[in-house]
Formats: sequence, C-alpha cells, structure tokens
Amino acid sequence: MTDTHLPPYPPQLSEARLAELQGHAIDWALAHGLIVRAPPALVSQDAANVPVVTHAPFALFPSPFPRRCYAQATELQPLYNTLVDTLAKDDVFIRQVMDSLSKVDDFTGKLYDIYQAVSGPNGSKQRVKLGLHRSDYLLHVPVDAPAFTEPVLQQVELNTIASSFSSLSGLASELHSYLLNRTNFFNDPSLLSPDITASALPTNTSGTSIAKGIAKAHELYGVKSAVAVMVVQPGERNAFDQRWIEYTLFKNHGVKLIRKSLDEIQVQAKLEGPERRLYIDGSEVAVTYFRAGYAPTDYPSDKEWQARQTIESSYSIKCPSIAYHLVGTKKVQQILALPGVVERFVKDEKHAQLLRNSFTGLYPLDGSQDGEKAVEIALERGGEGFVMKPQREGGGNNIYGADIPPLLSKMTVQERNAYILMDLIRPPPLKNIMVRQGALIEGEVVSELGVYGLWVSDGDEIHLNEAGGHLLRTKASTSNEGGVAAGFAVLDSPLLV
Ligand code: ADP
Ligand code: MG
Ligand code: MG
Repeated sequence: MTDTHLPPYPPQLSEARLAELQGHAIDWALAHGLIVRAPPALVSQDAANVPVVTHAPFALFPSPFPRRCYAQATELQPLYNTLVDTLAKDDVFIRQVMDSLSKVDDFTGKLYDIYQAVSGPNGSKQRVKLGLHRSDYLLHVPVDAPAFTEPVLQQVELNTIASSFSSLSGLASELHSYLLNRTNFFNDPSLLSPDITASALPTNTSGTSIAKGIAKAHELYGVKSAVAVMVVQPGERNAFDQRWIEYTLFKNHGVKLIRKSLDEIQVQAKLEGPERRLYIDGSEVAVTYFRAGYAPTDYPSDKEWQARQTIESSYSIKCPSIAYHLVGTKKVQQILALPGVVERFVKDEKHAQLLRNSFTGLYPLDGSQDGEKAVEIALERGGEGFVMKPQREGGGNNIYGADIPPLLSKMTVQERNAYILMDLIRPPPLKNIMVRQGALIEGEVVSELGVYGLWVSDGDEIHLNEAGGHLLRTKASTSNEGGVAAGFAVLDSPLLV
C-alpha cells in the first residue's frame, strides 16, 4: 500500500515457521478440493489413466486490499447486472455495434449470426434470464502521483460468460481464514498492526452463489425433474472448480447437473414440442450453463456452432444467452465509456455516475475521428501507458506498451477496428509469497479483484440481482497478464485494510 505506517508485509517468518505454514496450506488445499488436474508434464506416460491432481496455485498470505475499494466493487455489482440485462434487451444497440464488429472479427461475427438466426419468431420462447457475471478490477495510482495517494478502483473488464474460479476462490478464502486462526502467523504484534484479525477477511459467498443462481433459474423453469447442463471443454484442467458447482447444486438445491461438450451436445441434443424444449440423454434441460464456447478454439468445426445454435433456439435457460455473451465484449465496454452512452442506458444519474467512475480510459481503434486520434497518441507515446485488446476471453490475448506501435502501424483501419485501446491501470505493488506446484515464489505482486454477479429475471420481474462473492487473483508485478488458468496468477483473498 502507499500507507507506509503499515508494518512490512507479509510477516517475515523464520525458515522453519514458513515451511510449517507451507505444509499446512498445501495439505489443507489438497484435503478440501482446492485442486486442479495436474499439467500433462506431471502425468506419467505409462499410467495415463491414473488421475493426478495438484493444489491450485495460491497466495500463502491474504493480500492487503483497501476496504473502501472492496465495498465499492461489491456495491457496483447489482448496477452492472442491471446494465447487462438492459443492453441485452436493446436489439437496436446490439445490431448497431455488431453489424460493424462482425465484419472485422470472425468469431464475434459467428456469435452474431446465431443472434440474428434465432431472433424474432425463430427465437427462444424462454423469458427467464440467468446472468452469472464477474466484474474485474485493479487498483490504480497514476505514475506521477504524490506519495500517499489513495488508489482508485478501475474496471478491467466485465465477464458475462464462463466466469471461473468461484468455487476455488471460496476455498482460498477458507484456507486463509484457517491459516490465520490455526497457525497464528499474524499474532506477532511487531509484524502487523494489531487490528488485522479474522474480521479483516471478508466472508466470501462465491463457493455457493453460482449454484444459487442456477437453482433459482431451475425453479422458475418449473420442471422439478429437469437437469442443468454445464457445457465444458474436453480435457478441462480446472474441472474441480466446476465440479464444486455441481456438488453444491445437488447438495443445497437437489438439482442434478450433467457435463457435456459442444460436440456431445451436437450429437445428443433433441428439441421437442412447439417450445423446442431441450432434451439431452433423455433428460429435459432447464438450464444450460456455459463453461466453454467463449473462444474460437471451442468451435473446431461447424458441429460446435450448430450445437450452440440448437441450445440458443431452445426453451432451456441459457447462461449466457447470445445477447448476454455479446454485450460482454470489450467493444461494448469501450462504447459504454463514450460520452453519454452509459448515461443513456442507466436512467438513475447517481448509478450512472458510480459506473462511470469505475471506468478507465477506453478508446476505439476504428476509422472514426476518435479512433484516429487514439492511434496517433498511442504511436506518439510508443505505446507507453496503453493496452490493446482484441475481442477475446480467457487471458493471454492482449498487447502491451512497446509492442503496440509495431502492430498498429502495419494494420489496416479495418483490422484495427477489431481491437480496442485502454489506459494501462497501474496497481501499487505489494509483497507476498505464491505457492505453485508445492514451491514458494516470493516477490512483488499485484492483485485483481473480481466480484461475481447473480441475475435472474422473468420478463420484467427481477428475482435475483446481487453480488455473489469475490475472487482475488495475484500475480508477479512484472507480469502483464493475470489469468490463473493461463498460468500467470494465483488464487488469493483480500485482507481488508
Ligand atoms: P480476458 O477476457 O482475456 O481475461 P482481460 O481484459 O481481463 O481479458 O485482460 C487479461 C489481463 O490483462 C487482466 O487480468 C489484467 O491482468 C491485464 N489487463 C487487462 N487490461 C488491463 C489494463 N487496462 N491495465 C492493466 N492491466 C490490464
Ligand atoms: Mg474476460
Ligand atoms: Mg479477464
């Protein structure tokens, strides 16, 4: 933090105590399912059928995070949930944005084809909407800010499809709470200010919230025996984060969830009756929850696209619907930041202001006057202070700083239009110890806070609109990207200061 009156963080433990803590933490993680499938390199060639897991990468200590910014992110979530639903209902807006974006980005174009194919009379008769989002933020302190400048919260992006780690994040919070209470690694008053106690670890509902959202949608669907389907990627390593949703959904709500790939759905799905009710393996499907389908690689052939269209046209409740998926694109995020746009969709002035305050600088890279100006400034500054983003999800796709100009200058206006430009958010670095495949990695880190959002509505009636817990991902401050699955970050939890 910029607050230098805080004692050094994390606590400087002796080597012996650190090893003890490491042992406690790793075994707790393995015993409680804070795990991922082992990377292929760790799986024996001779015994490929033996299931091998490892603990998910995590931070040994919770990372300090300003209480004020945490509260702000939580309060913003219902506003973002509402905004997504409002935008998704606005056919004119979606067509305006997607007509041009689909010409420059094939993948978004394919999604938009489905949107068009199943709108109007061909559309799904289902009125229930299920949104399971995650809005991600970094803290920002400007480079030339005077000492002790308080950081502000700035949105990185809003995910409307396949927001992962809700289960493992709930476990990461429990892990830190356990370590704090069990090992007393904070109890030396010379190490940390005495008010840093268990109450500084906020309750995290993310471990149960996604199941709660799916269960609410399932209830509104109205067929008790119907199942939920999770659309998954073949060979998913983060399978346990997903399995925990399945187990919680069954344990807390009595709803069965089955896992299917798009490929399997293409073969097994049947639509029945005038409402086109979806049946898979003989079971009626109330909710189709996508944990795949957000990346071009999820659609290796036309079969997967057909499966997506079949689901979209069906009576099952989609999470997300194609419209929800499309309004989660980075292009929409950039358009919302244009003068007057978020205000057009959010009538309450105070709410619009709160949303706008969470935006950082976002710029088009198209042929408009603003687009040309953005290109000029990015080139002039050698890319310094900017991130360039394509319409992709899942991490590892962005272009940073000095890599921007060479790319920009060889692109046509048409090609540029598939990207947006964003101000680089600069979080103040902290120190922590990351644990990855059993090993400790100590160093300077930065954290990205995600807040899950739950939305369930039936026509104009809103049944659920709330924040559904949080995720803190921590990465080395030298790394640009922040994905846990992509191998950059570890799971963490906030220590509110
Ligand atoms: P994705 O949908 O692939 O997750 P993101 O927009 O979240 O795309 O970008 C991936 C990562 O890149 C983020 O987790 C964050 O670490 C980093 N990043 C993205 N935008 C910014 C930004 N404006 N400033 C600083 N880092 C950023
Ligand atoms: Mg994303
Ligand atoms: Mg992201």
